[in-house]
Amino acid sequence: ASAELVGAVARALERADGVRRLEVRANADTPEDAARARRFGARGIGLCRTEHMFLGERRRLVEEMVLARGDAERDRALAALLPLQRRDFGGILEAMDGLPVTIRLLDPPLHEFLPDRTALAVRVAAAEARGDLPAAHDTELLAAVNRMHEENPMLGLRGVRLGLVVPGLVAMQVRAIAEAVVERVRAGGSPRAEIMVPLVGDVRELGIVREEVRRVLAEVSAASGVPVDCPVGTMIELPRAALTAGRIAGEAEFFSFGTNDLTQTTWGFSRDDVEAEFFSAYLDKGVFPVSPFETVDRDGVGRLISIAVAEGRAARPGLGIGVCGEHGGDPASVHFFHAAGLDYVSCSPFRVPVARLEAGRAALERTEASDSR
Ligand code: PEP
Ligand code: MG
Repeated sequence: ASAELVGAVARALERADGVRRLEVRANADTPEDAARARRFGARGIGLCRTEHMFLGERRRLVEEMVLARGDAERDRALAALLPLQRRDFGGILEAMDGLPVTIRLLDPPLHEFLPDRTALAVRVAAAEARGDLPAAHDTELLAAVNRMHEENPMLGLRGVRLGLVVPGLVAMQVRAIAEAVVERVRAGGSPRAEIMVPLVGDVRELGIVREEVRRVLAEVSAASGVPVDCPVGTMIELPRAALTAGRIAGEAEFFSFGTNDLTQTTWGFSRDDVEAEFFSAYLDKGVFPVSPFETVDRDGVGRLISIAVAEGRAARPGLGIGVCGEHGGDPASVHFFHAAGLDYVSCSPFRVPVARLEAGRAALERTEASDSR
């Protein structure tokens, strides 16, 4: 019976693949996940988050890079990160050889990377209370962490903003991507890296980053003799980005909707607090029938998406547009994205088969609906 079931699922997927217009990519940031996504039928990576690559041992380097006491310290941290990042990207490009891999520049929740401010303050205070001199390193670190402190880190120094204020960060990541591409080309592969800028709210932010990307790609191409040309695109995950999409398209070769942040910033609900009591009360009272973090809210986030698609394509005909928030693997949302005219959805590897099926169903339903008119 299970063989029959597997056969039926395979046939359904094949039929869906034959009719669907939406491409299905996966969100993956390790070679293992990329390989798994490929087995599930993903046609590329729509979102390679780079935050996880900075955890563990490398956290110390992020700390040094962000809290650096001068250019030399920051440059040392960046120089140490470069070969590590080159290896990270090389592995993923190899696993997805021949298919697009959209690598997003660092978008960390900075508070999760920096040392804990309270623990540091307690340590410094305890040393003082004992009549000791606190370690100079602790005092300096506390002062630096205090300078960086934000009450609302999710509305703070994230995404492109970090790239604009930490000199050399964008260049380091872009160089790592470009050099990984060169290595893959020399090994006979067909790497297709795309560079994606997170949390853009204004076209000028993107313009500044793009200049830097062009400069680094030209340097790596000249030094290696291998021409490296990666498309540069942006996440659309702030209402302002959606509303100014026409201008943003002037600097973006593709758009990808980050519906997690777009939902958070449109509704003003914290995406990290959906377990809060009042949130379930909203569900119980029917304010929304299903959480807007699960299924795209057509009246709010959905309208912003439609505006951005229309404005973006009016400014740049043929602009490639996808979605890489959690909604990319949600069946009802997939139907919405099909209707909105997106080119692809990107979701976690395990949801790829469901997204393929739903994209097929959405295409069929719309054909049937127009046939019966
Ligand atoms: C999003 O905001 O929808 C997104 C894909 O980015 P992240 O979840 O990493 O913020
Ligand atoms: Mg986001």
